[in-house]
Amino acid sequence: MTLTPILPGTTAAGQQTTLGVMGGGQLGRMFVQAAQSMGYFTAVLDPDPASPAGLVSHFHIQTDYLDEQGLAQLMQRCAAITTEFENVPAPALFTLGAHRPVAPGADAVAIAQDRSAEKAHFRRCGVPVAPYAVIETPEQAEAITRVGADLFPGILKTARLGYDGKGQIRVATPAGLAAAWDTLKNVPCVLEKMLPLAAECSVIVARGANGDLVHFHPQLNLHRDGILAVTQVFEGNLPISSVEKAVDATKAIANELQYVGVLCVEFFVLDDGSLVVNEMAPRPHNSGHYTLDACDLSQFELQVRALTGLPLVPPRHHSPAIMLNLLGDLWFDAAGRPVTPAWREVLALPGAHLHLYGKLDARKGRKMGHLTLTGESVEAVRATALKAASLLGIPAF
Ligand code: ADP
Ligand code: MG
Repeated sequence: MTLTPILPGTTAAGQQTTLGVMGGGQLGRMFVQAAQSMGYFTAVLDPDPASPAGLVSHFHIQTDYLDEQGLAQLMQRCAAITTEFENVPAPALFTLGAHRPVAPGADAVAIAQDRSAEKAHFRRCGVPVAPYAVIETPEQAEAITRVGADLFPGILKTARLGYDGKGQIRVATPAGLAAAWDTLKNVPCVLEKMLPLAAECSVIVARGANGDLVHFHPQLNLHRDGILAVTQVFEGNLPISSVEKAVDATKAIANELQYVGVLCVEFFVLDDGSLVVNEMAPRPHNSGHYTLDACDLSQFELQVRALTGLPLVPPRHHSPAIMLNLLGDLWFDAAGRPVTPAWREVLALPGAHLHLYGKLDARKGRKMGHLTLTGESVEAVRATALKAASLLGIPAF
């Protein structure tokens, strides 16, 4: 990782400095938009011809993530490369990293891709995790049914490739473990004890190659069916002790990894007020989308700065904010007929900021966009957010 910043704009040789991103989803799109507004050109590598980021990027390389020619084109075009989803094959990042600054690095992404490795990392950092066991062999599964009674009721999660609650099965008793593991095709898993959650929160940090680190105030997150539904961010959204513990833990997790880029760590706040780390994402996070409208620097601008070695200035959170995720469900009425959500009425609300990701087809559970409400007071923002939710058919929170 170079410590000489990659400045935006035209180089002395008359070329536009271009930043690359692996993956073309909405996180890539918002990275591209942030990079472009700072004066960079952008290149996206994603096989999907209609990917949200590919649609708005100067260059879109439509190949598989491991395609040698695609990776070569990306390196040839770009001064530095980032990633927008954790399941970019780590070998692709190793290849890119041998020739260009890549942030986050392949090592950190490889850890975040695997729940077992991730939990081991959290423990190394001294941050408590939920009681869990790794299940990779029938012998391990069988042993848990005999001696792992304290892990039940539990959640069986695939070690890799899970997201938005996918790849998870709740298992009430040891007797149900074998069938649940079969359903997950006996891939490597972790079994985690179900914990009594008082709340969920996340912390986003940006860390530079020189070790500078800045953070946002912790986000209070509400999940429905395993998918983030609502994020609320304002002073007092969480007990001060949880705020401090979560920020300190996230800093330790990023520093220990020598992490470069934007990192989000998700936590559970338990009924007794204690804090347990859940998982991390080596990239900007859905719970940080409010930063686009409620902070003077967004998580995507910080991603650009961390990648290019530009100064990481602490972001100032200037407005209470509530973000509502806009899932594909909103594009259907109760009878399953397609409808257009009530944008006109929603946009008549003060402090409403609509972000749609340019996805062509709405499907249930698919993240189509988000709506952030900002305002002067928590009460005002809460009132408009509830109004927006009701206009859109999102359950109150
Ligand atoms: P994903 O990768 O799909 O986000 P998570 O591990 O974050 O997977 O789980 C999704 C949601 O399921 C969490 O945000 C939380 O609401 C619930 N959940 C996961 N693990 C536990 C647990 N051990 N105890 C209680 N709830 C859990
Ligand atoms: Mg999660």
